[in-house]
Amino acid sequence: MAAKIAGNLEGGNVSIIVQQLQGAYERGQLKNALYQYWAQQVPKIFFTSAEVAISTQRTHDAVQAEEKLSRDVLFEPLEWFLCGGNPAAVFQQLQSLNNPPQLCGKVFKVGEPTYSCRDCCADPTCVFCIECFNKSTHKTHRYRMSTSGGGGYCDCGDVEAWKQDPWCDIHKQGLGQQSQNPIEKLPKDVAARAWEVLKIALQYAVDILLWEQMDGLPQDLEPSVQQNTYVTMLFNDEIHTYEQVINALTRAISCQQKEAVEFATVVDREGRSSVRYGNRKSCDQARSIIQRSTSLRSKPLKVEVMHTSVCAHQAFAQKVLNWLGQVVNHSDGLRHILCTTALQQPPTGDLCVVERLMLADTALWKIARVQCHQIMMGSLLMDQESKKQFSVLYTRNYPQVQMDFMADDHDHGVSIISLSVQIFTVPTLARYLIMEHDLLAIVIRTFLEQCASCRHGRYLLDREKLQKNFRRLQFPLLDLKYVLSMVPDQWNDQLKRKFMNGFKIMAELLTSMQGMDSVTRQVGQHIEMEPEWESAFNLQIKLAPAVAMMAGWCATDKMVLIDAFRIAVKALLEISQLDTVKKCKRRVCDQEAIVVDYTVSREPVSIHLPICRLLAGLYLQLGKYGLTFNSPELYGPLQPPIAMDLLEQPLKTLVMIAQVHAEMWKRNGYSLFHQVYYYHNVRCRSEMQDKDIIMLQVACAQMDPNQFLIALLNKFELMNWIEGDFDDFIRLFFYGRRRDVTEKGSSATDDLLRFTNSLVEEFLNFLIIIIGERYVPGIGQVSSEDMVKREVIHQLCISPMAHSDLSKALPENHKHETGMEAVIADVSTFKKPGVTGMGRYELKPEFYKDYNPFFYHYTRADQSKAKEAQLKRKKQEGESTACPPPEMPALSKEFSGLVNVLECDVFVHTIRTVFRRVNSSRSRSWTEAMVHRALHLVGMALNEEKRLYQTSPYIRFNFVKKATEGGSNSLYSALHDLLGKPRIQNHADLLTWAIDRFDEVKALKEQKQVMSDAQKAKKVSSKSKTDAERKKKAEAARKRREKILAQMSDMQKSFIRDNLELFEATGTELSSSPSMEVEGSPMVAPSQYPVAVGPDRSPATHVTLTTSTCILCQEDQEVSVGNKCVVLAAYVQRSTALSKSRGRVLEDPDKYDPLLVSPDLYHGVHTSTCGHVMHADCWQRFYEAIVAKEQRRALRFRHILSYEVDRGEFLCPLCETLSNTVIPILPPSTTIQPDSVSVDISLSFSDWLDGLKKTVEASQRAMMKEEEDKMESSDDLPVLSPCPLPSITKNMAEMAAQGFQQLFEYMTETGAQAPYSDSVKEMMKLFSRATYTNMLHDPPLPTKFGLGLDPNDDDDRVPITAWGTCAYTIRTLEWLLRDQGKPLFGSLSSRQADCITALVRVVTVSGSLSDPQTISKSALRLLSALLPQEPMKNVPCILDVDMFFTLVFLHVTFPSLYCDENTAAGGTIRGLALNDKHLLHLITATHLVQILLAANFSSADAPMDTEETAEGSAWVKLFMAVRKEAGLQTAVIPSGWQLQTYVRESVLPFLRCSALFFHCHTGVQSSAELQESGVSEFEPLCQYLALPPDLSSLLQQNSDVGNGYSVPHTIHSKWCQYPGIKESLASGPASLVKYPIAVNKLVPLPQDYSDVINKGSVFTCPRSDGDDSRAPTMCLVCGQMLCSQSYCCQTDLDGEPVGACTAHIYTCGAGVGIFLRVRECQILLLTGKTKGCFYPSPYLDDYGEHDQGLRRGNPLYLCQERYKKLQKLWLSHSIPEEVVHFMEANASFATIEWQHL
Ligand SMILES: [Zn+2]
Ligand SMILES: [Zn+2]
Ligand SMILES: [Zn+2]
Ligand SMILES: [Zn+2]
Ligand SMILES: [Zn+2]
Ligand SMILES: [Zn+2]
Ligand SMILES: [Zn+2]
Repeated sequence: MAAKIAGNLEGGNVSIIVQQLQGAYERGQLKNALYQYWAQQVPKIFFTSAEVAISTQRTHDAVQAEEKLSRDVLFEPLEWFLCGGNPAAVFQQLQSLNNPPQLCGKVFKVGEPTYSCRDCCADPTCVFCIECFNKSTHKTHRYRMSTSGGGGYCDCGDVEAWKQDPWCDIHKQGLGQQSQNPIEKLPKDVAARAWEVLKIALQYAVDILLWEQMDGLPQDLEPSVQQNTYVTMLFNDEIHTYEQVINALTRAISCQQKEAVEFATVVDREGRSSVRYGNRKSCDQARSIIQRSTSLRSKPLKVEVMHTSVCAHQAFAQKVLNWLGQVVNHSDGLRHILCTTALQQPPTGDLCVVERLMLADTALWKIARVQCHQIMMGSLLMDQESKKQFSVLYTRNYPQVQMDFMADDHDHGVSIISLSVQIFTVPTLARYLIMEHDLLAIVIRTFLEQCASCRHGRYLLDREKLQKNFRRLQFPLLDLKYVLSMVPDQWNDQLKRKFMNGFKIMAELLTSMQGMDSVTRQVGQHIEMEPEWESAFNLQIKLAPAVAMMAGWCATDKMVLIDAFRIAVKALLEISQLDTVKKCKRRVCDQEAIVVDYTVSREPVSIHLPICRLLAGLYLQLGKYGLTFNSPELYGPLQPPIAMDLLEQPLKTLVMIAQVHAEMWKRNGYSLFHQVYYYHNVRCRSEMQDKDIIMLQVACAQMDPNQFLIALLNKFELMNWIEGDFDDFIRLFFYGRRRDVTEKGSSATDDLLRFTNSLVEEFLNFLIIIIGERYVPGIGQVSSEDMVKREVIHQLCISPMAHSDLSKALPENHKHETGMEAVIADVSTFKKPGVTGMGRYELKPEFYKDYNPFFYHYTRADQSKAKEAQLKRKKQEGESTACPPPEMPALSKEFSGLVNVLECDVFVHTIRTVFRRVNSSRSRSWTEAMVHRALHLVGMALNEEKRLYQTSPYIRFNFVKKATEGGSNSLYSALHDLLGKPRIQNHADLLTWAIDRFDEVKALKEQKQVMSDAQKAKKVSSKSKTDAERKKKAEAARKRREKILAQMSDMQKSFIRDNLELFEATGTELSSSPSMEVEGSPMVAPSQYPVAVGPDRSPATHVTLTTSTCILCQEDQEVSVGNKCVVLAAYVQRSTALSKSRGRVLEDPDKYDPLLVSPDLYHGVHTSTCGHVMHADCWQRFYEAIVAKEQRRALRFRHILSYEVDRGEFLCPLCETLSNTVIPILPPSTTIQPDSVSVDISLSFSDWLDGLKKTVEASQRAMMKEEEDKMESSDDLPVLSPCPLPSITKNMAEMAAQGFQQLFEYMTETGAQAPYSDSVKEMMKLFSRATYTNMLHDPPLPTKFGLGLDPNDDDDRVPITAWGTCAYTIRTLEWLLRDQGKPLFGSLSSRQADCITALVRVVTVSGSLSDPQTISKSALRLLSALLPQEPMKNVPCILDVDMFFTLVFLHVTFPSLYCDENTAAGGTIRGLALNDKHLLHLITATHLVQILLAANFSSADAPMDTEETAEGSAWVKLFMAVRKEAGLQTAVIPSGWQLQTYVRESVLPFLRCSALFFHCHTGVQSSAELQESGVSEFEPLCQYLALPPDLSSLLQQNSDVGNGYSVPHTIHSKWCQYPGIKESLASGPASLVKYPIAVNKLVPLPQDYSDVINKGSVFTCPRSDGDDSRAPTMCLVCGQMLCSQSYCCQTDLDGEPVGACTAHIYTCGAGVGIFLRVRECQILLLTGKTKGCFYPSPYLDDYGEHDQGLRRGNPLYLCQERYKKLQKLWLSHSIPEEVVHFMEANASFATIEWQHL
């Protein structure tokens, strides 16, 4: 064995150590031996030198070295010893002994995706990992997805976690294995050694981690050689901010900011970091400075000075824990041994290891804690028996652990109490702990004792503790929810007893809350200080689910229910006795009642009544067991309560709220207002408002209805109102006061009247609720589904709603379920979303009849919105506008007494009183709202009478009789009197409905004997009804027509108005800018193909931008070069969107050559405009005003603007689009420079070409001669200067010379006066400068506007960049159109069309506005690239030049080719159509050769079986020839057809760009084919550009197809043999631009969002050594994942620290970026360093909604349309514009520090 070890290991000393260990083991001295070994080795490996000790300097290598050493020296020998052989082999063997795992147990990292099944989970904390989930049936269920916050593990295989299918396919295999003690399966010797080794290792790790002495080790670990080195250890807390820590560090250890940031990052991540290494003194010093500088406002940072050997052992101890975790992962048997060891109480009587760790949790630092928790999860919690023992220990120590947590300052996630969820959510375990260890009582008491003090046997809540510490305090309440989440299916005596133990304490807790935060109405003065109210509500919100669940438990057993009910009643009675109750008598219309005398408006009232609500919850369950309010068994020895006792408390609260609504409590401030809001809010109402209503319904059902109503009226303080004539009372009140102060008196009277009227409204509303709200199982005969259905119906009556909005409006149970899914399809139809917005549910029409305008969960806003929506709908459908009370469900037996209210004397009297007051003309004591409610109540009574009569005729209920009693004094006649009253016109329809219903019910009751009459009457009434209906409908139709007409005329008016006030309008539709001439020229006759190039050009028919209206002064301005200049607001930005070499950056701006543009377009400038036109001078004044304003602002304080004035930015004064320059608008160049299509010059292509070739040759010769003359100045690049025209023509044939001369002669005509106005010239210059600075400087240099020279003006490159942006923008538009599959012509938006038209015109004339000689030199250099003669340094080969840019540049410069010093700048230089035509042919031919050279056919592209065409074979010939010339091997010869297709496709983008360019230049309308999508455009394009359709002819000699256009072979050879071609081709296809050039897209995204999350979770921070990134963010342009929003990945940009995203956009996107934030599931748009916005992600759930922040967790899938929209946003360069619009609209986002993302 020993030999084998030695053979397998390097160094060999491992085998010696193993032998020593074996020896020690046999002597029973293993522990000593190991400790000795560790004492020697550990300090040598860890914390060995300053370099390693200071964690920031722990380079990757140092950490690796430490890791390797500890592995080799410390763990290897241990494993060899443990295994008794090669660990790898032995562990594998042990693994095979394991039962196939039935549990997954994968521990989650932060950010890993987790899945829960909403259909099958036992509670919402049960989750699957992604592997298990993908292999489970739940994939097809309603699942919920989220990202783990770290901690927790996969519950796959836990039968208690899932209602069905607890196993995925992998873990199902573990089923059916008989369970044998896993230790018995282990080989005996391994087991024996494992007992020892694991015990020693665990003991060691725990001892060392908990070691408290900082300057020395335990005796048995003291090394023989003592070193005296120390470190200053800085610990994490959650009080100090990053900045504070960094500041303290820079002061204490005088390190760089960067270093301090890294220390702080480590401290934050790991919980501690050594920040200084040295002797004791220097370390002490550092400690005291840090503490001093952080103790100013809070307790100082924790800092310790530690001996390095202690640190070393602690570092090793952490590794030992991890090692143990790995070891037990191999084998169930080893795991079991470790667990047993950990749980074993030592014979000394000390605590076992687990308990020690539990109690010392808060003493450990962050990462050590996490490691301890992980080993617990990986061992104890994975082993069923150990888990049980662990949970017993946990329960026993629960109060202490919770107390430690309260005193701790770390997050919940890194505390041992976060393990609660792993234990308490297991139902059998929870039940076992309740029964055997009184868990319920322990948890509740732990909570109670931490926030309350006990006095005289009653707990008093400690407000201060609640308020300050609730965040920590709340966890026992959460645990309570876990413990209670599964209702037991069986009870036994012990469980009952222990449950009641818990219930009693809960009752004590609730008792201590009862009456909390009571308020007294403030009169006279406003309260001085808003009382604190949040803590009581926090408590309520966290407690409510537990209370509801306890009630749920009680409901499953009669005896438990009775016991609980008794406890609640007793508690309530005790509370009621605390108040001294005064009673008094009240009378209303001969009915007398004893009521409690308590005036809500004067005495204290509380909104917190948890005991009453507990009782109400229990009460509803009684019916299940046949118990009623009066069942004697309910009370046992207790005195049964009377209904009045139950009524009193909730009634007081409800009356107070009614008074708040009536604005009587205004002086009590916002605090009360908020409380009332939450009381009714969806988060609280089911355990607050709803329970109070139930309690009132309980009382009402028990009491005499008259007495009940009198009690209510009394409490509402409406006795004055109901008794006698209230108006008289008011008058008396008024006169009584009048004698004192008239005005005050009158206002007091007004108040009284107003309050009383409002209170009556509230009172009636209240009755509607008490009698009508029956959709609670137990009250009405309804199911819980009916209840949810009704909620949904009422929400959808407000408006159609998105799924998420709807679920937000419904209360959730503890499983986060609203029950909505079950009913939503029944009551509504789903409308899918478009490209924006969300999917919505619409109510099915048949449910509108269930709409109740007084639905008790409506807020006031909801109520009026719903009413409006319903009225609108009814009017549209021509229906009666009445919304009568909907039919109500039958009441349960226990609550059947509720209806009696509707027929009692007091009720009838009350309603009649309301109607009478309306009828009395003098009365002021009524309101429309009152009438509405009274009518509604009458309707309810009639509905009830009808329903009861039809279903249970034996019930005596006679509202109709009561209402008709008393003849003219009756309610019925009062109702009739209302008819036709204009005062209640709004409710006329409801009144009619009520009277109809009255008659109907009356007839129904009087039945048989009057049947015939009734029928007749009915017929008549129905006939008259139909007549009436018809009339009504006709009327409605007429109204509708009128309305439409009115709307139309309104629209017209507003249209006119809008256009008059154009300046004031903002955000008008951009694409339809009214200031532009509308394009609408007639199409060219289809027979004649339009041609845009050459002497045979078609006439221009399509001329835009001729007259414009200035948006600033509203004056019209004709566009011409001599007039005042008009400009378009524009935005130029540098761009990499078209780059084919992503990541290539502009290396040296000073040497950048903008003339010969690389075809990978890695860098360019894009221009866009909003299309709004201004006078140049109007705009200049506007801009100067902005600058001045900004300067003034800067004096006070800097305000963040969405645009940066010092970068020349401004917002378009009309539409607020971001702009940074202007483009001058010029007339079409053909009108300024008649290029004389008519002049007949005959000069063949070959002669023309020959002349140019000669020019290049001669110029080169001249240059080289000059070179030789002045050898010394070799630094400058040789400059080509064109030679004079005559020197060329003298070598040409006479005819050709003449033509050539003529062609250029026009240019030298300098006599004509420059037609350009100064303002035009100025604006041209301005625009060029803007493109120049944006291209080469970032941030762009401040541009000076107005007059004066710019330093950059001397740079020859300034005009060239302006031409470049024209080409770049056209290229971009071509891509955009191609990407969207739109035709080339007719589909640009008008702002895009305006933009390129303006650009082309500016560019075309700019050749004549610059220095002619410079222009001429540019032309010559371009030509020398096209017609290479001698190789030149600054002229690349044709493969490295973009041909479209070359075309644009030559078009501009070519006419000036032969200019000399005599040609004045600003003169008219005329382009000639023939030149354009020849140029286009030459450039196309060059491009074709480019394409042929770049072709790369692999054998995979097998030739197709297609007929060969002449063109095809010509291409093959050319292909071979060109490649031969270039010296290329050709492995695969493509077929002619294949090659032809390739060439045509490849050249197409160039042709499309050229066509756009010439279209803008000449205004020649395109042919119809080019305005349709899906048509082959190749031939129409050739025709339009005057090119032959067979392009091969351009390269063939003596071709008859090319009409004399062919480039001779000599030029081919020059192209192919030019230096650089070989290098370019040899560097391989990767770096070569591939043709056809494909449109750049955003990176493809996975269909399922969980794949994205997964990708994010495996991503680690590139700077922190494999740590998780907190905000993984994906660049959608290049796909790179970044670690955003974190100090670890900050870098410097121009001396400022920026986050990873901001840094990235400067290399990837030229300062613009689009990202996907993985955890938040949102898009981040960034532009520049300070601007950004969030945008919804393109992932949608099944309801058509996105989910920012993954709050809902529904499965999300990529919506292609929305992603395309983002793609378009990016490609059209609209991100900066979008961001600025967003920032303008959302000022709150201005505070986000985008640069740190
Ligand atoms: Zn799993
Ligand atoms: Zn599984
Ligand atoms: Zn499921
Ligand atoms: Zn103007
Ligand atoms: Zn605008
Ligand atoms: Zn990072
Ligand atoms: Zn990128």
